Amino acid sequence: MSDQIPIKNLDSKPETRTIELYASRKKIYVKEIQGFFQRIRNVSLWALMGMYFLLCWINVNGQPLIHFDLPARKFHIFGTTFWPQDFVLLSWLLIICAFGLFFITTLFGRVWCGYTCPQTVWTFIFMWIEERVEGSRNQRMKLDKAPTDPNKITKKIIKHALWLLVAFATGMTFVGYFYPVRELFVDFFTFNITEGYAYFWVFFFTIATYANAGWLREQVCLYMCPYARFQSVMFDRDTMVVSYNPNRGEPRGSRKKTADPKNAGLGDCVDCGMCVQVCPTGIDIRDGLQYECIGCALCIDACDQIMDKMNYPKGLISYTNENKLIGEKSHIVRPKSIGYGLALIAMIGSVIYSVGTRIPVAIDVIRDRGALYQYTGMGQVENSYTLKIMNMSDDGQFFDVTVEGIEGIKLSTTTHFFVESGEVYSLPASVEVPPENIKESTQEIRFHVQSESEADVHSLSESRFLGPVEY
Ligand code: SF4
Ligand code: SF4
Repeated sequence: MSDQIPIKNLDSKPETRTIELYASRKKIYVKEIQGFFQRIRNVSLWALMGMYFLLCWINVNGQPLIHFDLPARKFHIFGTTFWPQDFVLLSWLLIICAFGLFFITTLFGRVWCGYTCPQTVWTFIFMWIEERVEGSRNQRMKLDKAPTDPNKITKKIIKHALWLLVAFATGMTFVGYFYPVRELFVDFFTFNITEGYAYFWVFFFTIATYANAGWLREQVCLYMCPYARFQSVMFDRDTMVVSYNPNRGEPRGSRKKTADPKNAGLGDCVDCGMCVQVCPTGIDIRDGLQYECIGCALCIDACDQIMDKMNYPKGLISYTNENKLIGEKSHIVRPKSIGYGLALIAMIGSVIYSVGTRIPVAIDVIRDRGALYQYTGMGQVENSYTLKIMNMSDDGQFFDVTVEGIEGIKLSTTTHFFVESGEVYSLPASVEVPPENIKESTQEIRFHVQSESEADVHSLSESRFLGPVEY
């Protein structure tokens, strides 16, 4: 039989199809479920929530454990004070957090999204309140469909009031990391807040929390979060994902508990829909890996309960990876994870070393450009400078400054002075050298600043000394 070229009828009108780009939102009623992964989530969510609300209240040795003091331009983080000069260190801390996230994602998929992301944590709290006030999934669906009556209005008012209370506490706590938290709670309600921004940010975070965790919920993960979009580039065939095993589950279908699925020509999925009902993003994991899946593993807990009831082995939905699913060997240690791990260790080590060896004083030398040099009444050659001394310790202290680099060099102005904590002290300094010791027209000199009370608090800065040379 010879091959024939298909004939296309060009007279017929092309088929037109309209694709709706706007996907209207379907309200998701999430069913509460208990199980192994939900217990892990409970621990992580309440622990993170507790840390968020408590850390700003804790003081150690009179210093807040975490406080970002913007007016004084200093950040207290776990006993260490960071100044604007330490901005590079703080940037590295953020880079380490980002790299840590990439590393964890490569190994374990979206555990950040499922267990620790603030959107997940606050949504969980809001759903917990909703369940307590309006009842189970079926009761909530019924309530929403029911005509408006006093019972419905009361439940809705209580729910939204509690949501707003949590949102307000969240906003106040957030601002409490920037404004002294004890004063904040007094000043806020007595309208004595000195920093006007505080009112704005409390209001902003209250509304943002209420809207994101109460109303938007999964929409934030699906349409607003950039991480959800790009995290797939960190995935490979060995990354852990929540996955349904179609080889075991299909063909799906309901059956009696006593029925043998093999005789009925069925797989292990009883098509109960529980995995969909507990999913906070409303997807069906049986359709395969989807970017909407935040890896919360609630569908695993739900399906395991069904498997238990049916006396089937657990794990129809499980944490697994692509290699395992097709029966190939999976590897935890692989070039990508080794690379991320080594980079992370190197960065953490460098930052710990830098913070540990950080000296809380800095000196900057600015040479007076008005004159190259001048002679003093005693015939010495003199250069003028301005020294900027930054005290980055938590206490004010006395410092001494000295200069070296040329024989007979000395400071002819004040060398002993007091600098407040966080102050940049400006010290005009005149340096003189006997003319016979000047061998070159420009020579390197070093200024040294030393704390009077702490021997290891000192710093050095280089500059140039200009003078006449007789050839
Ligand atoms: S599919 Fe499962 S793991 Fe993914 S978001 Fe839904 S419940 Fe969570
Ligand atoms: S919970 Fe398990 S058995 Fe029920 S529909 Fe989902 S995959 Fe099938």
